[in-house]
Amino acid sequence: ALRIHPDIASLSPYVPGKPIEELQRELGLARVIKLASNENPLGPSPKALAALVGGHDSLHRYPDGGAYRLRQALADRWKVSLDHIILGNGSDEVLGLLARTFLAPGDEAVMADQTFVIYKMEVTAAHGKAVIVPLVNWTHDLDGMANAITAKTRLVFLCNPNNPTGTMVAADAVARFMAKVPDDVVVVFDEAYLEYVCDPHFPDSLQYVTQGRNAIVLRTFSKIYGLAGLRIGYGITTPEITNCLNRVRPPFNANTLAQRAALAALGDDEHVTKSRAVNAAGMQQLERGLRALGFAAIPSQANFVYFDVKRDGRRVFDALLREGVIVRHIEGTMLRVTIGQPDENDAFLASLKNVLQST
Ligand code: PMP
Repeated sequence: ALRIHPDIASLSPYVPGKPIEELQRELGLARVIKLASNENPLGPSPKALAALVGGHDSLHRYPDGGAYRLRQALADRWKVSLDHIILGNGSDEVLGLLARTFLAPGDEAVMADQTFVIYKMEVTAAHGKAVIVPLVNWTHDLDGMANAITAKTRLVFLCNPNNPTGTMVAADAVARFMAKVPDDVVVVFDEAYLEYVCDPHFPDSLQYVTQGRNAIVLRTFSKIYGLAGLRIGYGITTPEITNCLNRVRPPFNANTLAQRAALAALGDDEHVTKSRAVNAAGMQQLERGLRALGFAAIPSQANFVYFDVKRDGRRVFDALLREGVIVRHIEGTMLRVTIGQPDENDAFLASLKNVLQST
């Protein structure tokens, strides 16, 4: 018989959505709109696309395992030295490296609920114990999280802005929190949505890294840079933690095309600025539209909005899907919708209005 560790048995496989073309065929629709995964509706930077073309002649070679040029560019951007940067096959992979590096069986990792689901998955897969602290007012309960730290705690995950709620914790709250966290606990600041943040009170989490605290700041090229399909993200952390993570990092985890595209994308501020503007306008459009339908979106600093649809969210999700609009049902009556282009946002709002009659 197959033997599997109970920790692994306790996990459920991630259920991927159907390919868009497949759905379109199945539903007999001319257009399916995907607002489910917090991707950039404008796509990648044209400079990143151009850089991909230049990468084809070296695909028979392994990637640069040290990702020298990209790490150097990131180090310059964040004003740290090269040994502060670690790349991942998406920031997802860096989360996995953190769990494998710092957790022995039974060690604890403190995280919120609801937050990004991968934390719990990676901690459990590494045979650690996820210690869950519920959100308060849809926001991280930093006092609760500090109180949840024990002698067994090795990691704390702070998703800021938080997925799926879009809420953020401000600089002063983070400073109070960091003063309470023991120095041997690694604090993970997951800032996948940093570039969308408008609130001036957002913390400068990098300061904790440069002060030499055991902290890591995670960023990604999957969101505002529009490169989710290439899988590339990174951590900015102390040289000591980089060195630890590099012991378990697969040597060629950042592929050639991803390195090239990310480097070019990093040099395209125009695309980032445009993406941010499209997001800000789309946010207003969705908030206004949801309000007109009687729903209040939780104020979001990210590229998605979370709202209570006040009826079975699964049924609304399914009904929207039949109309060709894919959103994310998180739990109960809560749905998350990614901000799209103006016509996509309108299509979502129109479909939502339609399906409310039947759900
Ligand atoms: N962190 C958060 C909060 C996210 O929402 C996501 C993407 N859904 C990731 C990390 C992972 O991003 P990626 O692996 O594509 O870099």
